[in-house]
Amino acid sequence: MCLFCKIINGEIPCYKVYEDSDFLAFLDISQATVGHTLVIPKKHVANIFELDSETASKMLVVIKNITNKLKEKLNLSAVNILNNSGSLAGQTVHHLHFHIIPRYENDNIHLAPDAHEIDHEALKNTLSKILN
Ligand code: 5GP
Ligand code: ZN
Repeated sequence: MCLFCKIINGEIPCYKVYEDSDFLAFLDISQATVGHTLVIPKKHVANIFELDSETASKMLVVIKNITNKLKEKLNLSAVNILNNSGSLAGQTVHHLHFHIIPRYENDNIHLAPDAHEIDHEALKNTLSKILN
């Protein structure tokens, strides 16, 4: 059984932020910033590629509600919401989870990708691969 399934069934403790019949949210053990929270579906799916549409749409509502609760209780003005799907993307626990990472002044978190030169030919080529 995976680590997060063990947290769901209570074998491993967590700092629970929210729970309902389909989802659990708890503090990330390694807090990127204060209030860093993970939101997971109780049904084991490895990553976004495996997520069904019904769970996906419910999950966004749960993420939004928890984000607003963190905003209110921790007095946030900004947040990053992040999912790593696949090892190459940095996923280390292969049970789907979204990170809610509160942002604070001078928190030294750098998530924005580097800017690149604009290449319209490459953009057209990529789009035709996606659409065709
Ligand atoms: P990933 O790199 O897969 O997107 O994120 C996995 C996250 O799970 C990491 O941020 C890591 O700190 C967190 N994590 C790993 N083990 C545990 C644990 O036992 N409990 C909690 N609460 N978080 C964990
Ligand atoms: Zn699992």
